[in-house]
Amino acid sequence: MVAVDADSGPAKGQGLTVNASFEFFPPRTPEGVVKLRAVRRELATLKPEYFSVTFGAGGSTREGTWNTVVEMQDEGLPVVPHISCIGTTRESVRTLLAGYRERGVRRILALRGDMPSGAAGGAGDFRYANELVEFARAETGDWFHITVAAYPEYHPQSHSPAADLQSFIRKVNAGADSAITQYFYNFDAYARFVDEASALGCNVPIVAGVMPIVSYTQLARFSDSCGAEIPRWIRRRLESFGDDRESIRAFGLDVVTNLCEQLLAVGVPGLHFYTLNQAEASVELWKRLDSQAS
Ligand code: FAD
Repeated sequence: MVAVDADSGPAKGQGLTVNASFEFFPPRTPEGVVKLRAVRRELATLKPEYFSVTFGAGGSTREGTWNTVVEMQDEGLPVVPHISCIGTTRESVRTLLAGYRERGVRRILALRGDMPSGAAGGAGDFRYANELVEFARAETGDWFHITVAAYPEYHPQSHSPAADLQSFIRKVNAGADSAITQYFYNFDAYARFVDEASALGCNVPIVAGVMPIVSYTQLARFSDSCGAEIPRWIRRRLESFGDDRESIRAFGLDVVTNLCEQLLAVGVPGLHFYTLNQAEASVELWKRLDSQAS
């Protein structure tokens, strides 16, 4: 397990100093575009390391990713586009990388992606994320900081935990500089994953993906499809609140704050918030963490 090192966590009295990043999906409607502008203005006040924009997830379009990234870059915000293997060819990735490079983007998140049906990936020139990382490195040298995904509770399609860990190591060996995890509510799963990767010689920063809890039905749906466990005690409490959104919000905030505090105590290299294009839950969580570190 990650040794809890009192010196590695944030010092009390300094406020929250850990790197934060916020993930968006490209809006699908003109109203969504306008709303996201307000959301990122609000989140920018927290001075995140960067914002990231998903690629082809949940039915969003590639053009949506490009347009959102370009608009944010033009506003002077640090932005990281995701790129996935689904439906991409060597040529289309080459063009995309060159386009981002031309605009001064210095970091990408390289993924395999999922078919819209939720089936396994494919249907492109790259089968797995490590092939995409290798290609991006060969094409662009050290221009991009490349981040990949990690799964403390293991990817749902992996054959075994050991095989999944090897898949992760393969992506790092292909040239990834850092990783962001799928969200999780089991601190031990993260700690163990980091230790096991490190024991295999993999020491890239593994940033924790954090999913604030605002709606039980939505969270349950996501968790069923991506393999992130909602521990029984959390599930049962959330279920018991029914439509009482305020109780879900308050309980969710407590649970996720505690999780983040455990992560901060072991010196997690960053927190990546899955915002679902909403500012409120991330801001509230950030303020709670900040006040407890002050
Ligand atoms: P991979 O690392 O390629 O792994 C996929 C599966 O294949 C795993 O089970 C792995 O163990 C196995 N595997 C890997 N290599 C091999 C091999 N050589 N032989 C056999 N098996 C292998 N999805 C989107 O569509 N768009 C996004 O923008 C997006 N953003 C994300 C951001 C984050 C931070 C995270 C954690 C996930 C994101 N996803 C996104 C979801 C992600 O695409 C899915 O979880 C996908 O199923 C796996 O992607 P991966 O890059 O981890 O795949």
